[in-house]
Amino acid sequence: MAVHEHIGYGMPGSELDTKWWKTPEQRYEETVPKLRQFHEYGGRTFVDATGICNGRDVDYYKSLSEKTGVHIVACTGFVGGDTALPHFSRASVDYLARHFVHEITVGIGSTGSKAGVIKVGVSRGGRMTELDKRIYRAAARAAVATGVPVLTHLAIDPEPAVNIFHEEGLSLDRVLFGHVDDGVNAEKTPDRWIIEQGGRLGFDTFGYETELPDPPFWARPRKDRMDHFLRFVKGGHSDRVLASADANCSPLGWPGVKGHTVNYIFEVLIPELRHNAVDEDTITRIFVDNPADFLSIRS
Ligand SMILES: [Zn+2]
Repeated sequence: MAVHEHIGYGMPGSELDTKWWKTPEQRYEETVPKLRQFHEYGGRTFVDATGICNGRDVDYYKSLSEKTGVHIVACTGFVGGDTALPHFSRASVDYLARHFVHEITVGIGSTGSKAGVIKVGVSRGGRMTELDKRIYRAAARAAVATGVPVLTHLAIDPEPAVNIFHEEGLSLDRVLFGHVDDGVNAEKTPDRWIIEQGGRLGFDTFGYETELPDPPFWARPRKDRMDHFLRFVKGGHSDRVLASADANCSPLGWPGVKGHTVNYIFEVLIPELRHNAVDEDTITRIFVDNPADFLSIRS
């Protein structure tokens, strides 16, 4: 299972920029082979962590799922306060919580599909903004009301987040603190503290490495990330970590990162874990049991 991925991610408004428009045929052509390959490798579930306003397109996901056999879990929520458009950024905690609950229990618009996870995140700048906190609080309320888990974009500045989750009565076992491993934020993320509080850690930017021909600004040397991950896997925390690639099948409004796909998990990451003497039970725990446990709806 790939627990943090994107069918297509773009900044709000990119759909208005004609330079980046893609035909439906182009989008299918870029995406279907990747998902078919994922399925061939044994991948069955793809969690789309694209929030409201960043290109979430549930009817499209449904057709992709039918064509490829891959289960796609859609999310409600926002990548961060800074990607919430004014309609939402001006909304109250109560409005946002009710909106999330509706998307989880009734459905996302007229698609007939329900959200399986709530996305929240820290805005650019490294500190949680007032709006980020409002979204986290709404997400916590919706998670408590529905039993669906919360997935975060970035795990920097986690103290306010943990306080909000405590105040709203959400167990940190239901929260995956994501992007603890990226090149920009790994150093600033108190990963051990998060585990001590009972949270889960998302090493979910695998493959964004400085070894790529044209690495993005959040890239990290492959060995650094692997060593970081292994410290937790081999240090008694293999039940607390989740791994993913944060890849974009067909990016929206930007070119994406060449040579990086969700299939990095099967083509590079899992063989490398074996090479580093991680046993099959542990690999199954990380890629099957942990995400299944995290995504289970708890009442
Ligand atoms: Zn992501």
